[in-house]
Amino acid sequence: MNLLPFGELPAYRPRRFVPEKMDLGDWSRIAPLFDKLEAGAPQCQTPAAFERWLLDGSEVAAALDEESSRRYIAMTCHTEDAGAEAAYLHFVGQIEPQIKPRQFKLAQIFLAHPMRARLPRERWFVFDRATQLQVELFRPENVPLETEEARLSQQYQKLSGALTVLFRGEERTLAQMGRYLEEPDRALRQEAWELAANRRLREAEAFEHIFEQLLKLRGQIAANAGFPNYLQYAFRARGRFDYTPEDCRQFHEAIDGEVMPALRQLQAQRRGQLGLAALRPWDLAVDPLNRPALRPFEHIDKLVSNTGDIFVQLDPKLAGQFAWLRDLRLLDLDNRKGKAPGGYQSTLAEARLPFIFMNAVGIQRDVETLLHEAGHAFHALAARGEDLHAYRSAPIEFCEVASMSMELLGNEFIEKFYPPGDARRARRDHLEGIVEIFPWVATVDAFQHWIYTHPGHSRADRQKAWVELMDRFGGDVDWTGYEEARTNLWHRQLHIFIHPFYYVEYGIAQLGALQVWANSKKDKAQALEKYHQALRLGGSRPLPELFEAAGCRFDFSRQTVGPLVKRVGAELAALS
Ligand SMILES: [Zn+2]
Repeated sequence: MNLLPFGELPAYRPRRFVPEKMDLGDWSRIAPLFDKLEAGAPQCQTPAAFERWLLDGSEVAAALDEESSRRYIAMTCHTEDAGAEAAYLHFVGQIEPQIKPRQFKLAQIFLAHPMRARLPRERWFVFDRATQLQVELFRPENVPLETEEARLSQQYQKLSGALTVLFRGEERTLAQMGRYLEEPDRALRQEAWELAANRRLREAEAFEHIFEQLLKLRGQIAANAGFPNYLQYAFRARGRFDYTPEDCRQFHEAIDGEVMPALRQLQAQRRGQLGLAALRPWDLAVDPLNRPALRPFEHIDKLVSNTGDIFVQLDPKLAGQFAWLRDLRLLDLDNRKGKAPGGYQSTLAEARLPFIFMNAVGIQRDVETLLHEAGHAFHALAARGEDLHAYRSAPIEFCEVASMSMELLGNEFIEKFYPPGDARRARRDHLEGIVEIFPWVATVDAFQHWIYTHPGHSRADRQKAWVELMDRFGGDVDWTGYEEARTNLWHRQLHIFIHPFYYVEYGIAQLGALQVWANSKKDKAQALEKYHQALRLGGSRPLPELFEAAGCRFDFSRQTVGPLVKRVGAELAALS
Protein backbone atom coordinates (compact mmCIF):
# COMPACT_ATOMS: atom_id res chain seq x y z
CA MET A 1 0.00 0.00 0.00
CA ASN A 2 1.27 3.45 -0.85
CA LEU A 3 1.18 5.48 2.34
CA LEU A 4 2.39 8.67 0.70
CA PRO A 5 -0.22 11.33 -0.04
CA PHE A 6 1.34 11.91 -3.47
CA GLY A 7 1.77 9.50 -6.38
CA GLU A 8 4.75 9.04 -8.66
CA LEU A 9 6.58 12.33 -8.99
CA PRO A 10 8.26 13.67 -12.09
CA ALA A 11 12.00 12.88 -11.91
CA TYR A 12 14.15 15.99 -12.19
CA ARG A 13 16.60 14.02 -14.30
CA PRO A 14 17.54 10.33 -14.61
CA ARG A 15 20.14 8.97 -12.22
CA ARG A 16 23.58 8.37 -13.67
CA PHE A 17 25.48 6.92 -10.70
CA VAL A 18 22.91 5.36 -8.40
CA PRO A 19 21.16 2.39 -10.08
CA GLU A 20 17.48 2.97 -10.92
CA LYS A 21 15.03 1.00 -8.78
CA MET A 22 17.50 0.06 -6.05
CA ASP A 23 16.38 -0.60 -2.47
CA LEU A 24 17.70 2.37 -0.51
CA GLY A 25 16.81 0.74 2.79
CA ASP A 26 19.27 -2.10 2.30
CA TRP A 27 22.80 -1.34 3.51
CA SER A 28 24.32 -4.21 1.53
CA ARG A 29 23.16 -2.39 -1.63
CA ILE A 30 24.17 1.09 -0.42
CA ALA A 31 27.70 0.29 0.78
CA PRO A 32 29.00 -0.53 -2.76
CA LEU A 33 28.08 3.03 -3.84
CA PHE A 34 30.45 4.43 -1.22
CA ASP A 35 33.11 1.82 -2.14
CA LYS A 36 32.85 2.93 -5.76
CA LEU A 37 33.15 6.62 -4.81
CA GLU A 38 36.21 5.98 -2.65
CA ALA A 39 37.85 3.91 -5.36
CA GLY A 40 37.04 6.50 -8.02
CA ALA A 41 38.61 9.52 -6.30
CA PRO A 42 42.28 8.78 -7.14
CA GLN A 43 41.37 8.50 -10.81
CA CYS A 44 40.26 12.13 -10.97
CA GLN A 45 43.19 13.77 -12.72
CA THR A 46 41.53 17.00 -13.82
CA PRO A 47 39.32 19.53 -12.00
CA ALA A 48 36.47 18.59 -14.35
CA ALA A 49 36.77 14.88 -13.47
CA PHE A 50 36.89 15.81 -9.78
CA GLU A 51 33.75 17.94 -10.09
CA ARG A 52 32.00 15.03 -11.73
CA TRP A 53 33.07 12.83 -8.82
CA LEU A 54 31.61 15.37 -6.40
CA LEU A 55 28.34 15.37 -8.32
CA ASP A 56 28.22 11.55 -8.15
CA GLY A 57 28.58 11.82 -4.37
CA SER A 58 25.88 14.48 -4.39
CA GLU A 59 23.55 12.13 -6.29
CA VAL A 60 24.03 9.44 -3.63
CA ALA A 61 23.43 11.96 -0.83
CA ALA A 62 20.22 13.22 -2.49
CA ALA A 63 18.85 9.72 -3.08
CA LEU A 64 19.44 8.76 0.56
CA ASP A 65 18.04 12.06 1.78
CA GLU A 66 14.85 11.55 -0.24
CA GLU A 67 14.50 7.99 1.03
CA SER A 68 14.63 9.26 4.60
CA SER A 69 12.07 12.02 3.83
CA ARG A 70 9.65 9.61 2.16
CA ARG A 71 9.74 7.29 5.14
CA TYR A 72 9.24 10.22 7.52
CA ILE A 73 6.29 11.55 5.50
CA ALA A 74 4.62 8.11 5.34
CA MET A 75 5.01 7.70 9.10
CA THR A 76 3.67 11.15 10.04
CA CYS A 77 0.69 10.78 7.67
CA HIS A 78 -0.15 7.33 9.16
CA THR A 79 0.88 7.18 12.79
CA GLU A 80 -1.30 4.10 13.31
CA ASP A 81 0.61 2.11 10.66
CA ALA A 82 3.22 -0.02 12.44
CA GLY A 83 4.96 -0.85 9.17
CA ALA A 84 5.51 2.79 8.31
CA GLU A 85 6.98 3.48 11.73
CA ALA A 86 9.25 0.43 11.53
CA ALA A 87 10.48 1.47 8.08
CA TYR A 88 11.42 4.93 9.31
CA LEU A 89 13.06 3.67 12.49
CA HIS A 90 15.02 1.13 10.46
CA PHE A 91 16.42 3.90 8.30
CA VAL A 92 17.30 6.16 11.24
CA GLY A 93 18.64 3.38 13.45
CA GLN A 94 20.30 1.01 11.00
CA ILE A 95 21.13 2.93 7.82
CA GLU A 96 21.99 6.49 8.87
CA PRO A 97 24.65 5.48 11.44
CA GLN A 98 26.42 3.57 8.66
CA ILE A 99 26.10 6.42 6.17
CA LYS A 100 27.70 9.00 8.46
CA PRO A 101 31.21 7.50 8.74
CA ARG A 102 31.26 6.85 4.99
CA GLN A 103 30.33 10.46 4.23
CA PHE A 104 32.97 11.61 6.69
CA LYS A 105 35.53 9.49 4.80
CA LEU A 106 34.48 11.17 1.54
CA ALA A 107 34.96 14.57 3.18
CA GLN A 108 38.51 13.58 4.18
CA ILE A 109 39.24 12.34 0.66
CA PHE A 110 37.99 15.66 -0.71
CA LEU A 111 40.22 17.70 1.58
CA ALA A 112 43.35 15.67 0.76
CA HIS A 113 42.70 15.54 -2.99
CA PRO A 114 45.28 17.16 -5.29
CA MET A 115 42.49 18.58 -7.50
CA ARG A 116 40.84 20.40 -4.60
CA ALA A 117 43.03 23.48 -4.93
CA ARG A 118 42.32 23.65 -8.67
CA LEU A 119 38.52 23.77 -8.42
CA PRO A 120 37.05 27.13 -9.50
CA ARG A 121 37.11 29.04 -6.23
CA GLU A 122 33.98 31.15 -6.71
CA ARG A 123 31.92 28.04 -7.30
CA TRP A 124 33.39 25.82 -4.60
CA PHE A 125 34.57 27.87 -1.64
CA VAL A 126 31.30 27.63 0.34
CA PHE A 127 31.30 23.85 -0.05
CA ASP A 128 35.01 23.70 0.73
CA ARG A 129 34.78 25.66 3.98
CA ALA A 130 31.80 23.61 5.20
CA THR A 131 33.58 20.33 4.45
CA GLN A 132 36.75 21.55 6.12
CA LEU A 133 34.76 22.49 9.21
CA GLN A 134 33.10 19.08 9.36
CA VAL A 135 36.47 17.33 9.47
CA GLU A 136 38.23 19.91 11.63
CA LEU A 137 35.72 19.67 14.49
CA PHE A 138 35.53 15.91 14.62
CA ARG A 139 37.05 14.31 17.76
CA PRO A 140 36.59 10.58 18.37
CA GLU A 141 36.58 11.24 22.13
CA ASN A 142 33.53 13.50 21.66
CA VAL A 143 31.39 10.75 20.14
CA PRO A 144 30.38 9.16 23.48
CA LEU A 145 29.89 12.65 24.98
CA GLU A 146 27.52 13.56 22.17
CA THR A 147 25.60 10.33 22.70
CA GLU A 148 25.24 11.28 26.35
CA GLU A 149 24.15 14.78 25.34
CA ALA A 150 21.45 13.28 23.11
CA ARG A 151 20.30 11.06 25.98
CA LEU A 152 19.96 14.03 28.33
CA SER A 153 18.15 16.03 25.64
CA GLN A 154 15.67 13.21 25.32
CA GLN A 155 15.26 13.22 29.10
CA TYR A 156 14.39 16.91 28.97
CA GLN A 157 11.82 16.31 26.24
CA LYS A 158 10.31 13.42 28.09
CA LEU A 159 10.06 15.39 31.32
CA SER A 160 8.55 18.53 29.79
CA GLY A 161 6.27 16.61 27.40
CA ALA A 162 4.82 14.47 30.20
CA LEU A 163 3.75 17.37 32.43
CA THR A 164 -0.01 17.54 32.82
CA VAL A 165 -2.48 19.31 35.11
CA LEU A 166 -6.00 18.59 36.18
CA PHE A 167 -8.10 21.48 34.88
CA ARG A 168 -11.88 21.50 35.45
CA GLY A 169 -11.89 17.75 35.98
CA GLU A 170 -9.82 16.90 32.90
CA GLU A 171 -6.16 16.02 32.53
CA ARG A 172 -4.44 18.38 30.11
CA THR A 173 -0.90 18.86 28.82
CA LEU A 174 0.77 22.22 29.39
CA ALA A 175 0.66 22.85 25.63
CA GLN A 176 -3.13 22.39 25.73
CA MET A 177 -3.33 24.82 28.63
CA GLY A 178 -1.88 27.55 26.39
CA ARG A 179 -5.17 28.09 24.62
CA TYR A 180 -6.96 29.12 27.83
CA LEU A 181 -4.71 32.19 27.91
CA GLU A 182 -6.78 33.48 24.97
CA GLU A 183 -10.06 33.27 26.92
CA PRO A 184 -11.79 36.60 27.67
CA ASP A 185 -12.59 35.46 31.25
CA ARG A 186 -9.67 36.84 33.26
CA ALA A 187 -10.15 34.66 36.34
CA LEU A 188 -10.12 31.57 34.14
CA ARG A 189 -6.92 32.73 32.45
CA GLN A 190 -5.24 33.28 35.78
CA GLU A 191 -6.30 29.87 37.04
CA ALA A 192 -5.01 28.16 33.90
CA TRP A 193 -1.73 30.10 33.95
CA GLU A 194 -1.09 29.39 37.65
CA LEU A 195 -1.77 25.69 37.25
CA ALA A 196 0.72 25.35 34.39
CA ALA A 197 3.37 27.57 36.03
CA ASN A 198 3.15 25.70 39.33
CA ARG A 199 3.31 22.33 37.62
CA ARG A 200 6.52 23.35 35.87
CA LEU A 201 7.95 24.79 39.09
CA ARG A 202 7.53 21.47 40.85
CA GLU A 203 10.09 20.05 38.38
CA ALA A 204 12.53 22.96 38.72
CA GLU A 205 15.07 20.80 40.48
CA ALA A 206 14.87 18.13 37.76
CA PHE A 207 15.28 20.73 34.97
CA GLU A 208 18.28 22.28 36.73
CA HIS A 209 19.85 18.88 37.24
CA ILE A 210 19.53 17.93 33.55
CA PHE A 211 20.88 21.30 32.51
CA GLU A 212 23.92 21.15 34.79
CA GLN A 213 24.90 17.78 33.37
CA LEU A 214 24.54 19.19 29.85
CA LEU A 215 26.66 22.17 30.83
CA LYS A 216 29.49 19.95 32.01
CA LEU A 217 29.37 17.80 28.88
CA ARG A 218 29.39 20.81 26.60
CA GLY A 219 32.37 22.32 28.37
CA GLN A 220 34.25 19.06 27.84
CA ILE A 221 33.22 18.77 24.18
CA ALA A 222 34.54 22.28 23.54
CA ALA A 223 37.79 21.62 25.42
CA ASN A 224 38.38 18.37 23.52
CA ALA A 225 38.02 20.25 20.24
CA GLY A 226 40.54 22.86 21.44
CA PHE A 227 38.20 25.78 22.19
CA PRO A 228 38.44 28.06 25.24
CA ASN A 229 34.67 27.77 25.88
CA TYR A 230 31.49 26.29 24.46
CA LEU A 231 30.38 29.64 23.03
CA GLN A 232 33.39 29.69 20.71
CA TYR A 233 32.87 26.04 19.84
CA ALA A 234 29.14 26.43 19.14
CA PHE A 235 29.70 29.35 16.76
CA ARG A 236 32.09 27.15 14.74
CA ALA A 237 29.96 24.02 14.98
CA ARG A 238 26.84 25.85 13.80
CA GLY A 239 28.78 27.02 10.74
CA ARG A 240 28.55 30.69 11.65
CA PHE A 241 31.21 31.87 9.25
CA ASP A 242 29.71 35.26 8.63
CA TYR A 243 28.94 36.69 12.08
CA THR A 244 30.52 36.66 15.52
CA PRO A 245 29.43 36.60 19.17
CA GLU A 246 30.15 40.34 19.19
CA ASP A 247 27.64 40.86 16.34
CA CYS A 248 25.03 39.04 18.43
CA ARG A 249 25.77 41.23 21.44
CA GLN A 250 25.27 44.25 19.19
CA PHE A 251 21.94 42.75 18.15
CA HIS A 252 20.89 42.49 21.82
CA GLU A 253 21.81 46.18 22.26
CA ALA A 254 19.82 47.13 19.18
CA ILE A 255 16.77 45.26 20.44
CA ASP A 256 17.14 46.91 23.83
CA GLY A 257 17.41 50.40 22.34
CA GLU A 258 15.02 50.14 19.37
CA VAL A 259 12.45 47.40 20.01
CA MET A 260 11.85 47.82 23.75
CA PRO A 261 10.18 51.26 23.44
CA ALA A 262 7.84 49.80 20.80
CA LEU A 263 7.07 46.78 22.99
CA ARG A 264 6.30 48.98 26.01
CA GLN A 265 4.02 51.10 23.87
CA LEU A 266 2.09 48.02 22.68
CA GLN A 267 1.85 46.77 26.25
CA ALA A 268 0.53 50.15 27.44
CA GLN A 269 -2.07 50.09 24.70
CA ARG A 270 -3.11 46.55 25.64
CA ARG A 271 -3.33 47.55 29.30
CA GLY A 272 -5.60 50.45 28.38
CA GLN A 273 -7.83 48.38 26.12
CA LEU A 274 -8.23 45.69 28.76
CA GLY A 275 -8.90 48.41 31.35
CA LEU A 276 -6.25 47.11 33.76
CA ALA A 277 -3.96 48.88 36.19
CA ALA A 278 -1.17 46.42 35.32
CA LEU A 279 -0.61 43.57 32.88
CA ARG A 280 -0.10 40.22 34.57
CA PRO A 281 1.55 37.22 32.88
CA TRP A 282 -1.89 35.80 31.96
CA ASP A 283 -2.98 38.96 30.13
CA LEU A 284 -0.60 38.77 27.19
CA ALA A 285 -2.30 36.42 24.71
CA VAL A 286 -5.97 37.41 24.95
CA ASP A 287 -7.53 39.68 22.32
CA PRO A 288 -7.37 43.12 24.02
CA LEU A 289 -10.89 43.97 22.82
CA ASN A 290 -12.26 40.60 23.97
CA ARG A 291 -13.45 39.65 20.48
CA PRO A 292 -13.96 36.00 19.53
CA ALA A 293 -11.12 34.30 17.63
CA LEU A 294 -10.79 34.91 13.89
CA ARG A 295 -12.21 32.12 11.72
CA PRO A 296 -10.60 32.38 8.30
CA PHE A 297 -12.04 29.20 6.74
CA GLU A 298 -14.20 26.15 7.43
CA HIS A 299 -12.86 23.66 4.89
CA ILE A 300 -9.36 22.87 3.78
CA ASP A 301 -10.30 23.51 0.10
CA LYS A 302 -10.98 27.11 1.06
CA LEU A 303 -7.59 27.41 2.78
CA VAL A 304 -5.90 26.19 -0.40
CA SER A 305 -7.95 28.19 -2.90
CA ASN A 306 -7.81 31.45 -0.90
CA THR A 307 -4.06 31.08 -0.37
CA GLY A 308 -3.77 30.41 -4.10
CA ASP A 309 -5.69 33.66 -4.73
CA ILE A 310 -3.25 35.51 -2.46
CA PHE A 311 -0.37 34.29 -4.61
CA VAL A 312 -2.21 35.33 -7.79
CA GLN A 313 -2.35 38.87 -6.40
CA LEU A 314 1.22 38.73 -5.17
CA ASP A 315 3.05 37.11 -8.06
CA PRO A 316 1.73 34.94 -10.91
CA LYS A 317 4.87 32.82 -10.91
CA LEU A 318 4.40 31.87 -7.26
CA ALA A 319 0.71 31.23 -7.94
CA GLY A 320 1.66 28.78 -10.70
CA GLN A 321 4.10 26.96 -8.44
CA PHE A 322 1.57 26.67 -5.63
CA ALA A 323 -1.07 25.27 -8.02
CA TRP A 324 1.46 22.76 -9.31
CA LEU A 325 2.20 21.51 -5.78
CA ARG A 326 -1.53 21.18 -5.16
CA ASP A 327 -1.98 19.18 -8.38
CA LEU A 328 0.92 16.86 -7.50
CA ARG A 329 -0.73 16.34 -4.08
CA LEU A 330 2.32 17.71 -2.31
CA LEU A 331 0.12 19.60 0.17
CA ASP A 332 -1.32 17.52 3.02
CA LEU A 333 -2.95 20.15 5.17
CA ASP A 334 -6.04 18.92 6.98
CA ASN A 335 -6.17 17.69 10.54
CA ARG A 336 -7.11 14.01 10.30
CA LYS A 337 -7.12 11.15 12.73
CA GLY A 338 -3.86 9.23 12.44
CA LYS A 339 -1.71 12.23 11.49
CA ALA A 340 1.20 13.30 13.66
CA PRO A 341 0.73 16.74 15.28
CA GLY A 342 2.32 19.94 14.04
CA GLY A 343 3.48 21.11 10.64
CA TYR A 344 6.63 20.98 8.55
CA GLN A 345 8.01 21.44 5.07
CA SER A 346 10.20 18.68 3.75
CA THR A 347 12.11 18.55 0.47
CA LEU A 348 12.26 15.40 -1.64
CA ALA A 349 15.91 15.88 -2.46
CA GLU A 350 16.09 13.82 -5.64
CA ALA A 351 12.83 14.91 -7.26
CA ARG A 352 13.79 18.40 -6.03
CA LEU A 353 10.21 18.98 -4.93
CA PRO A 354 8.83 20.29 -1.63
CA PHE A 355 6.11 18.71 0.49
CA ILE A 356 4.00 20.58 3.07
CA PHE A 357 2.46 18.85 6.09
CA MET A 358 0.02 20.61 8.41
CA ASN A 359 -2.88 20.05 10.79
CA ALA A 360 -5.10 22.99 9.92
CA VAL A 361 -8.22 23.51 12.04
CA GLY A 362 -9.52 26.84 10.76
CA ILE A 363 -7.64 29.49 12.75
CA GLN A 364 -5.58 32.49 11.61
CA ARG A 365 -2.38 30.72 12.69
CA ASP A 366 -3.09 28.08 9.98
CA VAL A 367 -3.11 30.77 7.30
CA GLU A 368 0.21 32.14 8.57
CA THR A 369 1.69 28.64 8.78
CA LEU A 370 0.71 27.81 5.21
CA LEU A 371 2.20 31.09 3.92
CA HIS A 372 5.35 30.35 5.94
CA GLU A 373 5.76 26.77 4.71
CA ALA A 374 4.93 27.88 1.15
CA GLY A 375 7.90 30.28 1.43
CA HIS A 376 10.14 27.31 2.23
CA ALA A 377 8.58 25.38 -0.66
CA PHE A 378 9.26 28.27 -3.10
CA HIS A 379 12.85 28.23 -1.90
CA ALA A 380 13.19 24.53 -2.73
CA LEU A 381 11.65 25.08 -6.18
CA ALA A 382 13.83 28.12 -6.89
CA ALA A 383 17.01 26.12 -6.21
CA ARG A 384 15.91 23.15 -8.36
CA GLY A 385 18.39 23.90 -11.11
CA GLU A 386 21.35 23.57 -8.75
CA ASP A 387 23.04 20.19 -9.27
CA LEU A 388 25.02 20.03 -6.05
CA HIS A 389 22.78 18.67 -3.29
CA ALA A 390 24.66 20.63 -0.61
CA TYR A 391 23.87 23.89 -2.44
CA ARG A 392 20.15 23.23 -2.84
CA SER A 393 19.51 24.33 0.74
CA ALA A 394 20.58 27.57 2.37
CA PRO A 395 21.73 28.27 5.95
CA ILE A 396 18.80 28.47 8.38
CA GLU A 397 19.30 32.25 8.83
CA PHE A 398 18.31 32.67 5.19
CA CYS A 399 15.80 29.80 4.86
CA GLU A 400 13.67 31.63 7.38
CA VAL A 401 13.91 34.85 5.37
CA ALA A 402 12.23 32.98 2.51
CA SER A 403 9.41 31.77 4.78
CA MET A 404 8.93 34.80 7.06
CA SER A 405 8.91 37.17 4.07
CA MET A 406 6.07 35.14 2.60
CA GLU A 407 4.04 35.56 5.81
CA LEU A 408 4.45 39.33 5.59
CA LEU A 409 3.90 39.59 1.83
CA GLY A 410 0.92 37.22 1.89
CA ASN A 411 -0.71 39.05 4.81
CA GLU A 412 -0.94 42.13 2.59
CA PHE A 413 -3.71 40.28 0.71
CA ILE A 414 -5.34 38.59 3.70
CA GLU A 415 -8.68 40.14 2.59
CA LYS A 416 -9.05 36.93 0.58
CA PHE A 417 -10.02 35.36 3.91
CA TYR A 418 -11.73 38.21 5.76
CA PRO A 419 -13.91 41.30 5.58
CA PRO A 420 -11.78 44.49 5.90
CA GLY A 421 -12.06 44.88 9.70
CA ASP A 422 -10.95 41.33 10.43
CA ALA A 423 -8.20 41.59 7.83
CA ARG A 424 -6.76 44.60 9.65
CA ARG A 425 -6.95 42.70 12.94
CA ALA A 426 -5.13 39.69 11.45
CA ARG A 427 -2.37 41.92 10.09
CA ARG A 428 -2.06 43.76 13.38
CA ASP A 429 -1.76 40.54 15.38
CA HIS A 430 0.95 39.30 13.06
CA LEU A 431 3.00 42.51 13.25
CA GLU A 432 2.62 42.72 17.05
CA GLY A 433 3.91 39.15 17.25
CA ILE A 434 7.04 40.25 15.38
CA VAL A 435 7.68 43.13 17.80
CA GLU A 436 7.21 40.73 20.73
CA ILE A 437 9.49 37.99 19.46
CA PHE A 438 12.66 40.12 19.18
CA PRO A 439 13.02 40.73 22.96
CA TRP A 440 12.48 37.05 23.66
CA VAL A 441 15.12 36.12 21.07
CA ALA A 442 17.52 38.55 22.78
CA THR A 443 16.72 37.10 26.21
CA VAL A 444 17.28 33.49 25.18
CA ASP A 445 20.43 34.31 23.21
CA ALA A 446 22.04 36.67 25.74
CA PHE A 447 21.37 34.16 28.52
CA GLN A 448 23.34 31.51 26.68
CA HIS A 449 26.17 33.95 25.96
CA TRP A 450 26.35 34.56 29.70
CA ILE A 451 26.11 30.87 30.68
CA TYR A 452 28.86 29.60 28.41
CA THR A 453 31.30 32.41 29.19
CA HIS A 454 30.96 31.99 32.98
CA PRO A 455 32.39 28.56 33.68
CA GLY A 456 31.93 27.33 37.22
CA HIS A 457 29.02 29.71 37.95
CA SER A 458 26.56 28.76 40.69
CA ARG A 459 22.85 28.14 40.29
CA ALA A 460 22.16 31.42 42.09
CA ASP A 461 24.47 33.31 39.70
CA ARG A 462 22.63 31.80 36.75
CA GLN A 463 19.24 32.77 38.14
CA LYS A 464 20.48 36.30 38.73
CA ALA A 465 21.70 36.54 35.14
CA TRP A 466 18.30 35.38 33.87
CA VAL A 467 16.34 37.79 36.05
CA GLU A 468 18.52 40.69 34.89
CA LEU A 469 17.65 39.77 31.29
CA MET A 470 13.96 39.55 32.16
CA ASP A 471 14.24 43.05 33.65
CA ARG A 472 15.91 44.26 30.49
CA PHE A 473 13.71 42.58 27.86
CA GLY A 474 10.45 41.62 29.61
CA GLY A 475 8.75 44.99 29.36
CA ASP A 476 6.01 46.17 31.72
CA VAL A 477 4.50 43.00 33.11
CA ASP A 478 3.72 42.69 36.80
CA TRP A 479 5.03 39.39 38.21
CA THR A 480 4.40 40.25 41.90
CA GLY A 481 3.79 37.06 43.85
CA TYR A 482 5.15 34.92 41.00
CA GLU A 483 8.85 35.73 41.27
CA GLU A 484 9.85 32.09 41.39
CA ALA A 485 8.02 31.31 38.17
CA ARG A 486 9.76 34.26 36.55
CA THR A 487 13.21 33.16 37.75
CA ASN A 488 12.67 29.71 36.24
CA LEU A 489 10.86 30.75 33.07
CA TRP A 490 13.75 29.59 30.87
CA HIS A 491 13.04 25.96 31.77
CA ARG A 492 10.29 25.99 29.17
CA GLN A 493 12.56 27.04 26.29
CA LEU A 494 13.54 23.78 24.64
CA HIS A 495 16.35 25.30 22.56
CA ILE A 496 18.39 26.20 25.65
CA PHE A 497 18.47 22.52 26.59
CA ILE A 498 18.46 20.73 23.26
CA HIS A 499 19.77 23.09 20.56
CA PRO A 500 22.22 25.40 22.34
CA PHE A 501 22.61 28.81 20.65
CA TYR A 502 20.04 27.92 18.00
CA TYR A 503 17.57 30.79 18.39
CA VAL A 504 19.15 34.04 17.31
CA GLU A 505 18.69 32.75 13.74
CA TYR A 506 14.98 33.60 13.99
CA GLY A 507 15.79 37.19 14.89
CA ILE A 508 18.34 37.52 12.10
CA ALA A 509 15.92 36.07 9.56
CA GLN A 510 13.11 38.33 10.75
CA LEU A 511 15.33 41.35 10.04
CA GLY A 512 15.73 40.06 6.48
CA ALA A 513 12.01 39.37 6.08
CA LEU A 514 11.08 42.85 7.33
CA GLN A 515 13.46 44.35 4.79
CA VAL A 516 11.92 42.34 1.94
CA TRP A 517 8.48 43.50 3.08
CA ALA A 518 9.55 47.15 3.48
CA ASN A 519 11.09 47.00 -0.03
CA SER A 520 7.84 45.59 -1.41
CA LYS A 521 5.94 48.56 -0.02
CA LYS A 522 8.12 50.79 -2.20
CA ASP A 523 8.32 48.60 -5.30
CA LYS A 524 6.55 45.26 -5.17
CA ALA A 525 7.75 43.94 -8.53
CA GLN A 526 11.37 44.71 -7.79
CA ALA A 527 11.24 43.29 -4.26
CA LEU A 528 9.79 40.04 -5.60
CA GLU A 529 12.32 39.85 -8.39
CA LYS A 530 15.11 40.08 -5.81
CA TYR A 531 13.35 37.54 -3.60
CA HIS A 532 13.36 35.08 -6.51
CA GLN A 533 16.98 35.84 -7.34
CA ALA A 534 18.14 35.22 -3.78
CA LEU A 535 16.14 32.00 -3.41
CA ARG A 536 17.60 30.69 -6.66
CA LEU A 537 21.10 30.87 -5.11
CA GLY A 538 20.17 28.13 -2.62
CA GLY A 539 23.13 27.69 -0.29
CA SER A 540 25.84 28.37 -2.86
CA ARG A 541 26.80 31.79 -1.46
CA PRO A 542 27.66 33.07 2.03
CA LEU A 543 24.92 34.71 4.11
CA PRO A 544 25.81 38.36 3.42
CA GLU A 545 25.54 37.70 -0.32
CA LEU A 546 22.22 35.89 0.03
CA PHE A 547 20.83 38.84 1.99
CA GLU A 548 22.23 41.30 -0.52
CA ALA A 549 20.68 39.41 -3.44
CA ALA A 550 17.32 39.65 -1.65
CA GLY A 551 17.78 43.42 -1.37
CA CYS A 552 18.65 43.34 2.35
CA ARG A 553 21.54 44.31 4.58
CA PHE A 554 23.12 41.55 6.62
CA ASP A 555 23.58 43.68 9.69
CA PHE A 556 22.09 43.48 13.19
CA SER A 557 22.97 46.90 14.48
CA ARG A 558 20.68 49.76 15.49
CA GLN A 559 21.13 51.30 12.02
CA THR A 560 19.21 48.36 10.55
CA VAL A 561 16.88 47.49 13.43
CA GLY A 562 15.74 51.08 14.17
CA PRO A 563 14.15 51.99 10.83
CA LEU A 564 12.49 48.57 10.54
CA VAL A 565 10.83 48.88 13.94
CA LYS A 566 9.64 52.37 12.98
CA ARG A 567 8.21 50.98 9.75
CA VAL A 568 6.30 48.30 11.69
CA GLY A 569 5.13 50.95 14.19
CA ALA A 570 3.79 53.15 11.40
CA GLU A 571 1.95 50.20 9.87
CA LEU A 572 0.45 49.28 13.25
CA ALA A 573 -0.71 52.86 13.76
CA ALA A 574 -2.34 52.84 10.32
CA LEU A 575 -4.14 49.59 11.17
CA SER A 576 -5.55 50.84 14.47
ZN1 LIG B 1 10.43 27.91 8.92
